[in-house]
Amino acid sequence: MLTATQAKAEIDRLTDLLSQAASAYYNTGTALLDDDQYDLLAGQLAELEALYPQAARPDSPNRRVGTEPLDLFPKAKHQTPMLSLENISTPEELLAWGERLNKELEGLVPVFCCEAKLDGLSISVVYQKGKLAQAVTRGNGEQGDLVTPNLSTIPELPLALQEPLDLELRGEVLLKKAQFERLNQALEEAGEEPFKNPRNAAAGSLRLKDPQAVAQRKLSILLYDLVTPGFESNHEGNLKKMESWGLPVNPHRLVTGDLAQVLEFCAQMEAKRKDLEFEIDGVVIKIMDLGQRARLGRTAKFPVWARAWKFRPERAKAQLIKVEQSVGRTGVVTPVAVVSPVELAGTTVRRASLHNYKQVCEVLGLHEQDSVYLVKGGDIIPKVLAVEVLDRVPGAVPLEAPVVCPSCATALTRLPKAGSKPKEGQEPELEVDLRCVNPACPAVLDGQVEHFVSKKGMDIKTLGGKMSHLLLEKRLIGGIADLYRLAQKREILEQIEGLGKLSVTKLLEAIEASKTRPLNHLIYGLGIPQVGEKAAKLLAQELPDLQGLLALTEADLVKVANLGEVLRGQLLRWTGEEKNRALVRELLDLGLRPALLERPKNQPFAGKTLCITGTLQEKRSDWKFRLEQLGFTVTSAVSAKTNYLLAGVEAGSKLKKAQELGVPILDEEAMHHLIETGP
Ligand SMILES: [Zn+2]
Repeated sequence: MLTATQAKAEIDRLTDLLSQAASAYYNTGTALLDDDQYDLLAGQLAELEALYPQAARPDSPNRRVGTEPLDLFPKAKHQTPMLSLENISTPEELLAWGERLNKELEGLVPVFCCEAKLDGLSISVVYQKGKLAQAVTRGNGEQGDLVTPNLSTIPELPLALQEPLDLELRGEVLLKKAQFERLNQALEEAGEEPFKNPRNAAAGSLRLKDPQAVAQRKLSILLYDLVTPGFESNHEGNLKKMESWGLPVNPHRLVTGDLAQVLEFCAQMEAKRKDLEFEIDGVVIKIMDLGQRARLGRTAKFPVWARAWKFRPERAKAQLIKVEQSVGRTGVVTPVAVVSPVELAGTTVRRASLHNYKQVCEVLGLHEQDSVYLVKGGDIIPKVLAVEVLDRVPGAVPLEAPVVCPSCATALTRLPKAGSKPKEGQEPELEVDLRCVNPACPAVLDGQVEHFVSKKGMDIKTLGGKMSHLLLEKRLIGGIADLYRLAQKREILEQIEGLGKLSVTKLLEAIEASKTRPLNHLIYGLGIPQVGEKAAKLLAQELPDLQGLLALTEADLVKVANLGEVLRGQLLRWTGEEKNRALVRELLDLGLRPALLERPKNQPFAGKTLCITGTLQEKRSDWKFRLEQLGFTVTSAVSAKTNYLLAGVEAGSKLKKAQELGVPILDEEAMHHLIETGP
């Protein structure tokens, strides 16, 4: 059990954390916490608030239905409050709800309507005399943003119905997965931040001020409830009515009186989830009969007659034994939780990711010997999702971020974000990562050498495995450059156990041979953050020689296709650091002459500039890649220097500008023809 002080501290921490996350999400669409983690932490907070009511805060996210929206749009009150649903995710919780229903319905038999839970943005839609009159976001549940003009851009939502009906409807604004991909691609090409998921993209799109811009986002909507009474006596009947009026209704549903079938439907939807056009995150289970619904009513926050079954990755609870720190080749110190062995998704787990120390100290508030919940994400190593505070050992000490490097004891620092350009007089934004910046840090050097000699790098096989560690340990090398000085230490090398004359000869030959390994492998081997195999090749194709790497400017990098902004920032930071510049010069002095890469040949359109606009039959990225292979410079805007505009359907301002400037406009067919016949 917690002391009152501990409970208060934990309630304060969770309240602040969740409020921040909710506000960031509603106002900017940024997800500070995963949904799963948010739900779990909110549940823990609710549990603590119930146990220690005197410590609960009035601004607890559990006391509000939503978060106050920003004043971007006029506000409108909902005719009927928009409640959220109570979440469940286990058969036990479902059965408990079933029992409660049976008790409260006193002999009436409940029938359920199960619907795929659409992962979008809830919306209230009102028709007056058959005309689309009002669309309001959920907001705080009582009132939300009036976004009628934005919602009117959705083609499948009729602006007028055949009959002059007065309707209040509920639905979800969504973005199709395919449309989400296209949108993100366009954003990335324009150098803007892509959206994290279709829901964020839908939310961000609905909040745009200009309905025309909203229209280009191609939002969708599916309705799932008719709130206005007086039509059918049951929910499914109402949905069928809505379909007959030409309204878009969520098609993924099942009516059953059997909770076992409800569970089966949940499992089916989870299995089908990835094949659906839209993202779903669970199943909504509602009482069919509207009379029964009225009888069941609502609690302060949730209707009693519905539950949201949330898809959840399997979880396991384990005890934290200790937190290990590993120092990577970039100097970043990463915490890893060592836990009591536990079964999770078919494997025995002993270690779990903690991401970084912000996660450890702020998000999780991890203490020594805490009980932790683990989940398997997409990664191989599971992650720590949350702490079970109620299991906390009395007197347990909160874990703190290390101050010095576990390998070399140098004070750790947080660097400014790569590529961040703070305004005058402002502090630059810092990275979350804690870093050892000692260039002679053994752990960093070890990681660097290992990366340098790896297959995608210099591919010096004899140095793989333990050999590079051994050489560092015996101080025969102090870093990458020293590999090329090993020839002078032949006699000492031959003394090393397991290394005879012959293997030393082989080792030195392999090192010597690596001096002319193609430039892209050397660039990869240098371990510049973000620069992987592909980026290394793109860079190598641009460079006249190794030294050219140090002369690269932002302007040069922008011209290299497919190098993202973050990568450019990291690369320029790397080449700007004196120790790295010294390393490159040292390698040159030691005789490294990497084989140079030629630009892809056969570029009949080299020097020609082209802009792409509108929706194309083929993927835009495919076109871009093909055109760049042919030598085109593909730009994001039309100017007097543009040689061609490749225009798909629904082309907008770029098409107009090209017409004004007299730039030749080609459709896809004409483009194919141009490629065949040449410039
Ligand atoms: Zn260090």
